[in-house]
Amino acid sequence: MDRRKLLTLVTLASGVSAVSPVWAQFDLGKMLDAGKDLAKSESLTDEEVKSAFDQMAAESDRQNRIAPAGSPYASRLTKLTSGLGTYDGLKMNFKVYLTPDINAFAMANGTIRVYSGLMDQFTDDEVRYVIGHEIGHVKKGHSKARIQAALRTSALRTSALRNAVSASNSRAGAIADSQLGELFEKVVRAQHSQSNEREADDYAMGFMKAKRYQQGACVTALEKLAAMSGSESTSFLSTHPSPKERAERMKTQVA
Ligand SMILES: [Zn+2]
Repeated sequence: MDRRKLLTLVTLASGVSAVSPVWAQFDLGKMLDAGKDLAKSESLTDEEVKSAFDQMAAESDRQNRIAPAGSPYASRLTKLTSGLGTYDGLKMNFKVYLTPDINAFAMANGTIRVYSGLMDQFTDDEVRYVIGHEIGHVKKGHSKARIQAALRTSALRTSALRNAVSASNSRAGAIADSQLGELFEKVVRAQHSQSNEREADDYAMGFMKAKRYQQGACVTALEKLAAMSGSESTSFLSTHPSPKERAERMKTQVA
């Protein structure tokens, strides 16, 4: 297994979402050039958060190959998410990214993206567990907290977002691609804490019960991830609960 694929696996095993590799190249210099006003670190409104996610989602979709409607992957995802238009107040839109990476992510604006590599390895109910886990990060406020923190570090980014909201569809008000890339890194790809992971797992179990999906899929999905990451020991895994431990924890919650 190549290193990137492994990292992605390790990332998912810890419940963190992926990023398009292109975005690793965001222009830090451009941002550092801009004037900073750290006093402007007040909380963002829900509208501002939604705008940021809308723009990140559009850029992510632009950078990835999306399974066309009616294709086998798209049809399978549509089928396994039928009846999931809105859950817990979150109106979702689902798409498959065609990539061998094993991953998925959810955004606070309802964007859910599942990678075809994950669909190849996971059963329908295991994919649903992953979706439930990612919704959990959104509904428990983990992603909003991250975007607040990311934007707090630069007044440039905060003002760019404010402009984007007030200018609505104006291209001039859009967040620069370089900034979207960094936001994605910090908001969608960054590591979740252990307590966030447990919260998202618990949420996923509730989701499986509420929707009458196979609860055992929470356990088998995590066991698969544990087997895939094998005995690789990284500092990342050492600071996050292993999928094996999370599988054991989920086992105790299966009704
Ligand atoms: Zn997670």
